[in-house]
Amino acid sequence: MKMHKEMNKFCPRCNAYTIHTVSLYKKGKDNPMRQGARRYTRKKKGYGSQPKPIQKKFSKNTKKIVPRIKCKQCSYMRHMPSKRLKKIEII
Ligand SMILES: [Zn+2]
Repeated sequence: MKMHKEMNKFCPRCNAYTIHTVSLYKKGKDNPMRQGARRYTRKKKGYGSQPKPIQKKFSKNTKKIVPRIKCKQCSYMRHMPSKRLKKIEII
């Protein structure tokens, strides 16, 4: 799918239609010190095989893509409804 770099969208802060810039939402970096990660590294330690199964088969062959829009006037950022796409291009 092709998406325009700039779009005219409704901004709830400005309460008007303004020009928005489009970018893609990306997942943040994993923190190795968070509780789940600490527990998992402790569980993997020592003798024995992998304690939890690693998922290899996926029923879906696409990923959900979340476009992120930012108001040019007040720089209010929000997400647009996500869609399952193979490829997205911002032009
Ligand atoms: Zn705005």
